Amino acid sequence: MTVSTPWPAGPAVCLPVHGIDQQFPVHRVYCVGRNYAAHAQEMGYTGREPPFFFLKPNDALVPIAAQGGSIPYPSLTQDLHHEVELVVAIGTGGHDIDPKDAMAHVYGYAVGLDMTRRDLQMAMRKQGRPWDIGKAFDASAPIGPITPAAHVANIEQAAISLHVNDAPRQASTVAHLIWNIAETIAHLSNAWTLQPGDLIFTGTPEGVGAVQRGDRMHAHVQGLQPITVSVR
Ligand code: MN
Repeated sequence: MTVSTPWPAGPAVCLPVHGIDQQFPVHRVYCVGRNYAAHAQEMGYTGREPPFFFLKPNDALVPIAAQGGSIPYPSLTQDLHHEVELVVAIGTGGHDIDPKDAMAHVYGYAVGLDMTRRDLQMAMRKQGRPWDIGKAFDASAPIGPITPAAHVANIEQAAISLHVNDAPRQASTVAHLIWNIAETIAHLSNAWTLQPGDLIFTGTPEGVGAVQRGDRMHAHVQGLQPITVSVR
């Protein structure tokens, strides 16, 4: 058993901004479920459904430095999955944002991993219960620095990939998002008022799978800072 200190954990999580001596204070962490068709299929679904969302606590983020970082193998699971995702950082908030205005609300982008205790998520899904124990656990969201949108060319067409121990696991393009970045922001802002500092994990392409202690994940989105994350 680990005994925690009696005082609060401290200020909000901040992410470094690539190329600028500045920090991005994180508000909420939203995630989109099943936003690539081939991943929806591998999870047993077909067809275009409205986007759906879940959240992770912002202290589940693990900022990963250029030299790499690590996460602990979490408790309770025997099936820890990787999900590489493009993460959108919101700079300007709003409610009921029109898709045609949505990109103006983006501050920048990062590479993130929506780590998932798949066995627990599936057990909850089967029972119609919340996914939190499968998705929103400690250190479940390793993330790289944010690159300002002005410094990213053509993110809508960017290649996205994940390697484990140098072997390819996931490879797609952001162009294959079912709900693109602007549509995702618009839908999300119908349900919640977006705030500066919100992050949106936009969904993962096909090829999700398990990692073990000692594995090294390398996550890449074209034009952004890649991350290397070991499981300890
Ligand atoms: Mn995901």
